[in-house]
Amino acid sequence: MTNPRLLDDLLLSRAAIERAAHLRSDGEWQRSRAQDPASLVVWVRGNETAIAPGGGDSSLILTSVADLDDRSDLSFLGVDAEDRAYFALHSPTPEHPGLPPDAQWSSLRSVGSTLSDLHAGLTVTAVALDNWRSRTRWCSVCGGALTVGNAGWSLRCDADNVDHFPRTDPAVIVLVRDDDDRALLGRHVNWPVGRMSTFAGFVEAGESAEAAVRRELEEETGVVIGPNPDDVLYLGSQPWPFPCSLMLGYHAWTSQTEITVDGEEIAEAHWFSRAELLRACESRDVTLPPAVSISRKLIERWFGEPLPGQW
Ligand SMILES: [Zn+2]
Repeated sequence: MTNPRLLDDLLLSRAAIERAAHLRSDGEWQRSRAQDPASLVVWVRGNETAIAPGGGDSSLILTSVADLDDRSDLSFLGVDAEDRAYFALHSPTPEHPGLPPDAQWSSLRSVGSTLSDLHAGLTVTAVALDNWRSRTRWCSVCGGALTVGNAGWSLRCDADNVDHFPRTDPAVIVLVRDDDDRALLGRHVNWPVGRMSTFAGFVEAGESAEAAVRRELEEETGVVIGPNPDDVLYLGSQPWPFPCSLMLGYHAWTSQTEITVDGEEIAEAHWFSRAELLRACESRDVTLPPAVSISRKLIERWFGEPLPGQW
């Protein structure tokens, strides 16, 4: 049985693809599947993938690897339940002849909530790998050239005998609750009035995730989370590959409700009862993050059901 406290409906954590990491280093298997007409290609360019035109739910454009003239820049994404292999084709030009002319390039942020489980899993991994590749041009040790290895999952420097792997930066995101079970939401200085969210920040070098939750909250709002270990509760994680974050979601509790925003990152913060937040969302005085974000799931987990409106 799954832990009922975990956020099991995170839209970018759906994984209907078997990553089959042990097959990345199997050169013969990789060469064979990269020629197999049954193997499919995800077209990825930074945060965007090629999406089939049409309304309603979104669907990736998946083409056969056999139709590609050049298979030198593929990353292996995994296999589905029918043992079909999937690859990402990195940063093709929009005019690539292998792509249907009516393909739409769409950001994972905008289509992530309407993709199927399989397509969401493929897209998150393809975007993460493409963003890593485009930001890792040279060896970070010696500045030398890198060669792609492990079916797209490593970049090797032969001079240093070092493999560089896709990096994932942990970030914490927290919804804080007080003794009246109100929730603390805030507005970033760059956001329009009314746009509100939970609080987030990167885990620093040498820091635990729980310490980062406490530090970020106090820095940004002056609110000090309670001293007990149970005052910080981990709920679940979601990849956020823009370019390489992993969001660790928490609820936290405090008895100290006085707010002093830093003014640098957070412009304002307020405590909301459930009735107050529902009213504010219905009147559009407050808009919350979209369904694809872990922030909205943390808010709705506290609220108890879906809330209206989004950015
Ligand atoms: Zn090097």
